[in-house]
Amino acid sequence: MEFLNFNPRDKSLKLEEAPVPVPAENEVLIRVSFAGVSETDIQTIEGSYPRKENEDAVLLGREIVGVVQAIGSAVTTLSVGQAVAVNPNEGCDVCNFCRAGGYNHCQKAGAASTPEIWRNGGWRTHALVPEKQVYLVPAGVTLSQAVLAEPLSYLAHSWAKINPVEVGTGTLVIGAGILGFLWASLLHLHGLRKTVTIIEPRIKRRKLFEKLDLGFRALDIDDVKGEEFDLVIDCSGAGSATETALTSLGSGGRLCLVGSTNPLAEIKFKPFQATRKEFSIIGAHINQFTFGRTLSLITAMGDTYLDYEKLGIGVYKLSRYEEALAAVKTGDITKAVFKF
Ligand SMILES: [Zn+2]
Repeated sequence: MEFLNFNPRDKSLKLEEAPVPVPAENEVLIRVSFAGVSETDIQTIEGSYPRKENEDAVLLGREIVGVVQAIGSAVTTLSVGQAVAVNPNEGCDVCNFCRAGGYNHCQKAGAASTPEIWRNGGWRTHALVPEKQVYLVPAGVTLSQAVLAEPLSYLAHSWAKINPVEVGTGTLVIGAGILGFLWASLLHLHGLRKTVTIIEPRIKRRKLFEKLDLGFRALDIDDVKGEEFDLVIDCSGAGSATETALTSLGSGGRLCLVGSTNPLAEIKFKPFQATRKEFSIIGAHINQFTFGRTLSLITAMGDTYLDYEKLGIGVYKLSRYEEALAAVKTGDITKAVFKF
């Protein structure tokens, strides 16, 4: 097995080899086909992601798809050779949040389940994953599309929280990273056309966004000063952009905060704005039982919306990890995906 080892102490990465692991009774061994580079991976490498409770090294990569190579003795729902995708988020099933259908707020499960944070992730040729987190990829969905299931399952959860979103809703998306691109695509899929605007300070990202060809405006932040929107989706994770988001809300507007928000970010906010305009702030954290439905959503989005070139996604061999991470950092691509 080839894997990209991460040392949390000096934040270094190194390509290494080890024997192919053997699944425990409830585990599935996946021959990884694609593994995404998430914002959490990047924050972990940069040291900004909070990991106090888990100082030990784990392999990064929470976005994992591949083919089942072996199953543990107690696995009943999967068999060798099936194409599968991994939901990195799971609940403990017994806390009050899990029993009420909100495992994204579970205080216990992450310690056992989340690849890249609590157990080894998918930046390796062979990944061990608990059966309950492995989903069959439906016919008609390619593995390169299915590796986007994790960020899209997050969007599906956020989408449920902000609905109803009527056709014609004046919408501002902040941040032309992969989340912004996927949000724009999801809004277009649901019938929003000329009423969506994306703002982004980097020119190269705005130009990249134009390749999506959705008919949406792609502007610099200052270009929307004075405009008001019914719905603002802030994918930036930066406090300064959130201040822009709040001032861009019209009366009755809703702000949805998504993405890997910097835990240290703070904003200036006038409560008067909220009472006068009666606006709402909606946060969304990982997914909430949306992973299975998201694989169906991917079927609907298909090549029309999930074309890597249009989305600005770069594909790299694992050995080219330095190049992949550098391309994300410079903004040349919106996201990197490792292909095995
Ligand atoms: Zn729980």
